[in-house]
Amino acid sequence: MERFSKEITLEKRNKHIGDACTLFFKHDPLKITKASKQYMYDEKDNAYLDCINNVCHVGHCHPYVVEAGYEQMKTLNTNSRFLHDNLVMLAERLTSTLPEGLNTVYFTNSGSEATDLAIRLANHHTHGSEQITLDHAYHGHVISALDISPYKLGTCTDGIHTHSENIHIVPCPDIYRGKYRDCDYPEDNMAHLYANEVKAVIDKLKKEKKQVSMFIAESMQSCAGQVIFPEGYLQKVYKYVHDAGGICIADEVQVGFGRAGSHFWTFQTQDVIPDIVTIGKPMGNGHPVAAVITTKDISMSFKNSGMEYFNTYGGNPVSCAIALAVMDVIEEEKLQENALTTGKYWVAQLNEIKKQFPIIGDVRGLGLFIGIDLVKDRETREPASAEAKHVIARMKEEFIILSTDGPHCNIIKMKPPMCFTKENVDLVCQKLVMVLKEIQDKNINSNANSVISGKKERHSDSDDSGVSVNGHHGFVNGQEYVAVHTGESDSVTVVK
Ligand code: PMP
Repeated sequence: MERFSKEITLEKRNKHIGDACTLFFKHDPLKITKASKQYMYDEKDNAYLDCINNVCHVGHCHPYVVEAGYEQMKTLNTNSRFLHDNLVMLAERLTSTLPEGLNTVYFTNSGSEATDLAIRLANHHTHGSEQITLDHAYHGHVISALDISPYKLGTCTDGIHTHSENIHIVPCPDIYRGKYRDCDYPEDNMAHLYANEVKAVIDKLKKEKKQVSMFIAESMQSCAGQVIFPEGYLQKVYKYVHDAGGICIADEVQVGFGRAGSHFWTFQTQDVIPDIVTIGKPMGNGHPVAAVITTKDISMSFKNSGMEYFNTYGGNPVSCAIALAVMDVIEEEKLQENALTTGKYWVAQLNEIKKQFPIIGDVRGLGLFIGIDLVKDRETREPASAEAKHVIARMKEEFIILSTDGPHCNIIKMKPPMCFTKENVDLVCQKLVMVLKEIQDKNINSNANSVISGKKERHSDSDDSGVSVNGHHGFVNGQEYVAVHTGESDSVTVVK
């Protein structure tokens, strides 16, 4: 329902909403008034195909999930200090999908809270404080999570939030664009090379007589630009961390609940067992519910610290009813299976398109988690950031919502609701070919500096965080760099 015109809504938003909160498509934001399945509708009832919303996992406003929330809300909503069947049913249901030892659940309201709690659990269990995280990682917006989120941490320019000494950043195991590349090293050596970076940190800490608390990684990295780890990477890393007495945390906030297609949890694709798993986003299909799942031992170390854990909303009966309903739908509608088949089909189609367009450097994906790395030159792999922004803007004009990400904002990312169909894929591919042809024919490049559809627009609506990556650091051709995207000025746009 629309209460104000789009202009008035924007005006009120600019007046009253926190200035650090950004909008998708800032210069021509979308006003979405309703959504269903994989479609979002604007105030004029235009339907947009949503290729990026991995929160509305089973489809926007799924009636079964909505009904479950409504029914429970009518009956009772209170905190978890009272006994309630929904709480234990959900804990049982979640743990039944996980390896045996992961049998203890703490419910939270967001992925950030889950990250914070996971760090606390690791510190209490190991009595360590040294934390290892991947470059370009994002694990949440609270201070403890930001500390381990190079994706965001480097963007703070006033010196207030800086890199803590107990945080150790290791290269992101991106075999296409990371420190070690598949063009320079044999592919079967990649896991070893990247895992050795973690070992080097651990060895250094040992020498300094410092105790590792934890290693944290998404099981495939979203904000880094849809990075799929080389086979065996997590196995090697987990061994090094465990041998040093540390804890391994799998952040499944974005990539859990069947998104990878072949497995329910993405860490399973790497054949490892984490000590702690954090989950959120898709868990409530848009309703705020998240959790930390761990072993009895780790949970007991936390309890024995003497501090009670209480979270006013975490694990309330409504959130649990909703999360249970989401799990029902994933199962009944065979959405994990759909992610596998539709995702494979999508990657195959994109690889066909790649043959026609040298701008596509790499296509990668697992299930419905797919990235296209756009390059100016396939040899040098120089990122085609402006072109990626152009693609996103043009696709929006074609009523398809995509986003860009990665340290250079040149990765087109796709992580749609899990009910996405092959017909949807065909439409996206058809429009993508059209837009790439336009770029090819008009020889659009990042030096062009003008407008799309008469409006200047910034396109790097980076994921959920929706910010650019000022001061972001990383590795290119084995060289460490600091990316300088300067807000508006990095919005190099192109002539149509
Ligand atoms: N971990 C990952 C991998 C995420 O992508 C996010 C959110 N983008 C979080 C944690 C934090 O979750 P939330 O926004 O629910 O606090």
